[in-house]
Amino acid sequence: MKISRIFLPVLFLSAAGLSQAEATVTVAAEASATKPIAPTEHQLNIVYFLGSDREPIAGYEERLSELMLYTQKFYAEQMERNGYGYRSFGMDMKNPERVNIIIYRADKPASAYPYENGGGWRAAQEVEKYLDAKGLRKSRHTLIIFPTIYDDKNTDMSPGGVPFYGLGKVACALDYAFFDLEHLGQNTPKGHLMTKWFGGLAHELGHGLNLPHNMAVGSEAELGTALMGAGNYTFGMKPTFITAGSSALLDRCEVFAPKGDKTVFYQGRLEPKLEKLDIKVVDGKTIEISGSVTSNLALAALNIYIEEPPLGVNRDYEAHVFTQKLKAVDSKTAQPFAQSIPISELVGQKSTERAVRLCFIAENGQQQTIIAPLNLEEKKD
Ligand code: ZN
Repeated sequence: MKISRIFLPVLFLSAAGLSQAEATVTVAAEASATKPIAPTEHQLNIVYFLGSDREPIAGYEERLSELMLYTQKFYAEQMERNGYGYRSFGMDMKNPERVNIIIYRADKPASAYPYENGGGWRAAQEVEKYLDAKGLRKSRHTLIIFPTIYDDKNTDMSPGGVPFYGLGKVACALDYAFFDLEHLGQNTPKGHLMTKWFGGLAHELGHGLNLPHNMAVGSEAELGTALMGAGNYTFGMKPTFITAGSSALLDRCEVFAPKGDKTVFYQGRLEPKLEKLDIKVVDGKTIEISGSVTSNLALAALNIYIEEPPLGVNRDYEAHVFTQKLKAVDSKTAQPFAQSIPISELVGQKSTERAVRLCFIAENGQQQTIIAPLNLEEKKD
């Protein structure tokens, strides 16, 4: 799930999103190749959320550490494939095999933090406050893991009932007794559960790391399913990948910044100004987008999403993304951009009405989106 504000025909879209549970999978786990992940300046806060009436599920620290290291490696492999180096989100480690998982114990029982009715928002607010009060915060990004509810509906073979979605820079996922790497990729009930809930964790974490939805374009078919599309239904089971557009956003995500990078992330509102924008369809085959932009913050990249209306909450799964690097220039110099998009790349989209979302990405991680309508039948030359 994802919540955002939208105004048409040309408008700014707040990057503050809300995303929710979907599904994912992939990955051939190669024998634990010990290629080191580059150290980062900031780390993801990882919190285990306990209602006052709950205890952690047995073995949580070992199980979740293995799963998070696997997820970290998956992101690093995808960043490398997309040309950004073997980089991933940083984690605070107790030792090379154990992630430092912060236990948060709420004053209220677990039933006060359900999946629906704002349960995740309440939990996230409490956790954020706690991290600051105790000086535990390592970055703006937080993953909260809830032990499954146990009732007539929810069991270790049917976990749920707890928040499972992205809330801005916070991602919510869940834990249950069989949430264990040993089941990943197995064609068994526990294996399928892993794909759903572990793929779900990897996908929701993506939202918590600034990523919107997108799916594979035609030429990416061999890579499988995009993690931020339906990859939570394939993760660990069938090929799953992270798109180049998602990697461009992760490249400017706080917890991916290399050690020593002193960028102050997410400061100020990004205000890109289009000096020129031209969108045309050439011969009914190619969408040509070009223009120039000035910006108050130094820009790092531009992601162009092509999407079918209606836009809005969780309606962006079929968006296709095309990315290009921009140069950091002063705020007065207009910077040109151009993208040529073969319509054959837009698999799975059917209508002739589309929206073009220009998502500008600042070096400090801020994003701002400008939306323009596009009609594929309208040939302008
Ligand atoms: Zn999602």
